[in-house]
Amino acid sequence: MELAFTPDEIAFQNEVRAFLAAHLTPDIKRSHALTPSVFSDPPVGNHWQKLLYAKGWAAPLWPKEYGGAGWTLAQRYIWEVESALAGAPSVTPMGLRMVGPVIMKFGTQAQKDFYLPRILKAEDYWCQGYSEPGSGSDLASLKTRAVRDGDHYVINGSKIWTTHAHYANRMFALVRTSDEGKKQDGISFILIDMDTPGISVRPILTIGGDHEVNQVFFDDVRVPVANRVGAEGQGWSYGKYLLEFERGGAMSSGRLRGALRHVEKIAAHYRDGERPLIEDPAISLRLSQVEIDIDALEMTELRIMSSLQTGQNPGSVSSSLAKLRNSEIKQAITSLAVDVLGEDALVWEPRRPLYELNEPLPLEEDAITALPEYLNGRAYTIFGGTSEVQRDIIAKVVIGL
Ligand SMILES: Cc1cc2nc3c(=O)[nH]c(=O)nc-3n(C[C@H](O)[C@H](O)[C@H](O)COP(=O)(O)OP(=O)(O)OC[C@H]3O[C@@H](n4cnc5c(N)ncnc54)[C@H](O)[C@@H]3O)c2cc1C
Repeated sequence: MELAFTPDEIAFQNEVRAFLAAHLTPDIKRSHALTPSVFSDPPVGNHWQKLLYAKGWAAPLWPKEYGGAGWTLAQRYIWEVESALAGAPSVTPMGLRMVGPVIMKFGTQAQKDFYLPRILKAEDYWCQGYSEPGSGSDLASLKTRAVRDGDHYVINGSKIWTTHAHYANRMFALVRTSDEGKKQDGISFILIDMDTPGISVRPILTIGGDHEVNQVFFDDVRVPVANRVGAEGQGWSYGKYLLEFERGGAMSSGRLRGALRHVEKIAAHYRDGERPLIEDPAISLRLSQVEIDIDALEMTELRIMSSLQTGQNPGSVSSSLAKLRNSEIKQAITSLAVDVLGEDALVWEPRRPLYELNEPLPLEEDAITALPEYLNGRAYTIFGGTSEVQRDIIAKVVIGL
C-alpha cells in the first residue's frame, strides 16, 4: 500500500529509522529472530520496552497524560511498519495493551497512580487469568471463587493456559464473587500479586517444545478488596473490554509482512534443482496470496486505529475480524516456511533459548525456528478466543444470526 506522507510524517519516519539504527543492535535482533515462541522472551521484550520508554515511545496507544506517545494514526502506522521490518522484538501486550486500558478506564485513582507507571517502565510483568479447566470459550462458566472476608477476598480455584505466569509478578483475573442471577453477573475483575501465599504455578510444555503456558492454582489466597477493579459483579464487562484490545489493539500487519519477507529470503536461498524456490510458480503464488491478505488486514487495522485515535475502543466486530485474519495469515506464513525448507524443516533443536547456545546450531539461523514456529503457531487460532468463536461474533453482530 502506498501512503502519501506529509513532510512532518516523513521527518518522523526518518527519526524512527535513526532510532532503530542506533538502538536495535544486532544482538537484540538476533535474540528476537531466534525466539520461536508466540511471545517474546521477557528479558528480550522488557529490555526493548525500557529503551522505548527512555525515548517516550513505550505506549503508542496510551494518552499523553498517562505517559503515552501521543502519536497520530500515521505515526503509529510508520512505527509499527518500520520496527517490524527492521526485526525489533515485540513487547508484552499484557500490561500495555490489555490491563493498562482497563485500569485507565475503570480503575481508581490509586490504582492508576500505582500500576500505570510500573507498566510503562516494564517494572511489572503481567499475566492473564481468564481461562480455567472447563471454561475457555464459555468463559462465563468460570468457577475460581473469591469470597469476601473483611477487607480481603479469599480466592480458591485454578486458571489454565496462563501465558508467562512463571515470569509474571502480577495477574489480572476474572473470579466468581456471586452465584446469583446470570452467570456473567457474578464475575469480578481483580489484580493479584503472584507472590501472595497460596499461589502455585505448574508448567505446561506445548507442542513446539517451549514453556510458555502454565496452570496456576489458588489455595486460600488473600487479596485486598482494594485490588478489585470497578464494581463487584461487573468484571464481565471489563473483561470483554480488555478482550477487544487483546484481539484488535495491535497493528499485526507490519509483523506479518516482516515474517513474510523472512520466508521470501529463505525461498531465495533454497533451490529446487537450478532454480531458487522463490521462482517456483506454486511457491510464488502462495507468497503473493499472503501478501494480498496482509494488505487487506492492514486496511482493517488502520480502521481500528483511527477509532482508537478518537478515544473509542476497537469494537467487538473489528477486533474479532483482525484477530481471525491475523491468526490465519500467521499460520499460512509458518506453513509456507516449512514447505520451502522441505526435509530441513524436520531438523529439531529442543534447547532454549536458542540465542544463548554457545555452539553451532544444527541448521542455519534463518531456518532453525521454522518448525517450532509452525508448531507453536497452531495456537494462534485458539488463544484470545478461537476462530470459531470469532466467526460466531461476526455472524451475530454483522449478519444478525
Ligand atoms: C498458547 C496459548 C496461550 C494461552 N494464553 C492464555 C492466557 O494467557 N490466559 C488465559 O486466560 N487463557 C489463555 N489461553 C486459553 C485460550 O484463551 C483458550 O484455550 C481458548 O479460549 C479456548 O478455550 P478452550 O481451550 O477451553 O477450548 P474450548 O472452549 O473447549 O473449545 C474446544 C473447541 O470447541 C469449539 N467451540 C467452543 N465453543 C464453541 C461455540 N460456541 N461455537 C463453535 N465452536 C465452539 C472451539 O472453537 C474449539 O475448536 C491460551 C491458550 C493457548 C493455546
